[in-house]
Amino acid sequence: MKKCIYCLQLKKDSEFTIPEHALNQSFGKFKNNLTSYDVCHECNSYFGKNLDNVLARDSVFGFERFMKGIKKANEYKHLGRKSKNVYKADIGILKDLKSYPVIENGEIRLMIDSNQVSLKNFETGEFDLFLLDDLPKKELLNNCYRDKDNHISLVYQFKDGEVNRILKNKNYMVDASKITKTFEDGKVEISREQDVILSRALSKIIFTIFSLKVGLEISLCEDFNKIREFIRYGRNEKEMMNCFEVYKNSKKYNDNNQINGHIVTLKNDNGIWIGEVSFFADFTFTIPLGVDHVNIGESHYLLYDLDILELRTPHKPTSNTPIT
Ligand SMILES: [Zn+2]
Repeated sequence: MKKCIYCLQLKKDSEFTIPEHALNQSFGKFKNNLTSYDVCHECNSYFGKNLDNVLARDSVFGFERFMKGIKKANEYKHLGRKSKNVYKADIGILKDLKSYPVIENGEIRLMIDSNQVSLKNFETGEFDLFLLDDLPKKELLNNCYRDKDNHISLVYQFKDGEVNRILKNKNYMVDASKITKTFEDGKVEISREQDVILSRALSKIIFTIFSLKVGLEISLCEDFNKIREFIRYGRNEKEMMNCFEVYKNSKKYNDNNQINGHIVTLKNDNGIWIGEVSFFADFTFTIPLGVDHVNIGESHYLLYDLDILELRTPHKPTSNTPIT
């Protein structure tokens, strides 16, 4: 009999034969794949369906796999409108248009969401963004959005004549032009709603590695029940969502911010275990795992670097990071 590190249920050994990959293999094959046999089949299967797929298919980190060449562009699948990611352009006439990643000719591009349209305001010279369902009334349109030749300038992602159709239904007579400009020349800011599922997926990577490192005697103890229940059942959501941090951190680990690797760090900070996971050294997600167990001295400070989780480029931690 064995106890699962996530549901804490005692189950037969035969319920623990499928390895739980601490970091899903879709993020790269590592020299030494970290796998745990302390996660029961039921939890393993739940994680695969509910957490790992979100991390791979609907997260900044998942998207980066394609940008950094870990995955081929033609393998990209996007969740479309179900996505929680919001991509916004920060350039000229495309400013503030929401977009989503698509595959075109084997490359990933960010395309404008077809639900939006930008109209050039000839009074201000700027483009104003509207949802198709919320276009300005005809009077305003006539006052501000027609040039001296009585033309309206539009920017949108053309889709099946949808924009034309809606405009015609509203009695707008405009010459709509098709613009399929992408954002490749501009900065694209990626924002995301604070997402519980993604936070649980990231916490799972950290906690599985933590358990492998410190062993079952420690990782099964109740000090870590909060993080465990958050990962497995989404409990303690408010508390856990309040205490994680995500920051852009390439400088923290390496001067070279283009490394093709991921870093997981475990450290004991004044009696509290903190876990960090960093993908491609671009973003780091940090979350407290629990208070120190009585058997662990405060000197414990563990770090996994790319000697273990290696994709391509070996990486050494900075000198102010002690390792035991
Ligand atoms: Zn379980």
